[in-house]
Amino acid sequence: MNLRLYDTMAREKRPFAPADPRRVTMYVCGPTVYGFAHIGNARPVVVFDVLFRLLRQIYGENAVVYARNVTDVDDKINAKAADEGVDISVITERYLAAYHEDMGALGALRPTLEPRATAHIEAMQQQIAGLIQQGHAYAAEGHVLFDTQSYENYGKLSGRPLDEMIAGARVEVAPYKRHPADFVLWKPSKPGEPVWESPWGPGRPGWHIECSAMIESELGLPIDIHGGGIDLIFPHHENELAQGVCAHGGGEFARLWMHNGFLDMAGEKMSKSLGNVVIPHDLLQRVPGEVLRWALLSAHYRQPLDWTEGLIEQSRSSLDRLYGALQRVKGIAAERTDPPAAFLEALTDDLNTPRATAELFALAKALETAHGEAEKARLKGELLAAANLLGFLTADPDVWFAGAADEGLRAQVEALLEQRVEARNAKDWPTADRIREQLDGLGVIVMDGPQGATWRLKEPA
Ligand code: AMP
Ligand code: ZN
Repeated sequence: MNLRLYDTMAREKRPFAPADPRRVTMYVCGPTVYGFAHIGNARPVVVFDVLFRLLRQIYGENAVVYARNVTDVDDKINAKAADEGVDISVITERYLAAYHEDMGALGALRPTLEPRATAHIEAMQQQIAGLIQQGHAYAAEGHVLFDTQSYENYGKLSGRPLDEMIAGARVEVAPYKRHPADFVLWKPSKPGEPVWESPWGPGRPGWHIECSAMIESELGLPIDIHGGGIDLIFPHHENELAQGVCAHGGGEFARLWMHNGFLDMAGEKMSKSLGNVVIPHDLLQRVPGEVLRWALLSAHYRQPLDWTEGLIEQSRSSLDRLYGALQRVKGIAAERTDPPAAFLEALTDDLNTPRATAELFALAKALETAHGEAEKARLKGELLAAANLLGFLTADPDVWFAGAADEGLRAQVEALLEQRVEARNAKDWPTADRIREQLDGLGVIVMDGPQGATWRLKEPA
């Protein structure tokens, strides 16, 4: 299979070839756990989950090592802990558990490794010491800073030359910095903040060093793929790269860089600081995780994606169509097969999920119009294999359509649907209409198809 991926560094799509196909490594910057993730934060999770699944399909389930870090030391965590008068671990454990629950509901597999910043302080200190030793960092006033002028390729990933960064330095530059773009590797803790001993005085690590140190200690250099949202290209990934390369006197850090576009609301990036956030933890109360996942994959991952109620509804009806096709061949056992070539071609073309989902519809249509059990069994198998690879069609169609209906309601609906069939067969339209109204009163949407009616519950208002 020819996997091609867009590399932010090369600024073009490139054939993907791991350094060692028996151990493919991927690192994606993970959450800072101080609150519920918003649906924008879920975009990289779902996008890189698709890539993780695809790599496992290509190289084998055990050949892919995917690490996603947990930032569990940070100003916002400290502020939240102080606010509630609890230890920071109370905050980080609470929101990490919620993160796992919510991202799991969106169908994201757990990464192979989830290293935590606080468990890697020693690795960070070692990398900082290495940077000082190699002449790429300096200690000043309890801080350690990366010397950006010491690394000629600084700015290459984001395409920002160092000279421009002087002009771009809007905030007042700290007096101990040799260059405005120099960034913190270690800093003194403020009173009440977590603190670790270090050769440069008690303090805590900067944010960027967390990832480069964990990449080195958990995965080893170079890694095959480094990913995250587009906002991380600068400064976070530029700085990670500089640290990762310079700590070892050169060499490769990441062989390919990937970045997802923003999820927007009314044309603006969804972010906590703007206050325009939609939280999956709440949304999942009324919308199935697969619907949210579908919505997140409805645009190509590098394109912006505008989040609306209409998008949720469209995604739901797209999945209803696919589940409907499955429900109508309920009695036929699916053949065990690989996803079809056209679907894989779409996905291996830089994760073209809009084209891949269009292939799912083509398969569903072929299934609906197929003749003979063998043909149906094959197409059902292909549809399931393809959809499952993307994390869709994981539910039983009956359960999908019945939604949150309890046993009693389900039995009542089934009975009414049977009576409706009888009324229609007898051409007793008034009765059929009355039954339909009764179903509507129960909050049930009926969908008539060539092989009978299917149903689902309306969303609660
Ligand atoms: P943060 O917690 O802000 O560091 O974000 C965690 C991840 O979510 C990073 O990979 C960000 O790039 C990504 N991210 C944050 N906001 C958005 C958004 N509105 N759209 C897409 N990705 C986002
Ligand atoms: Zn990172």
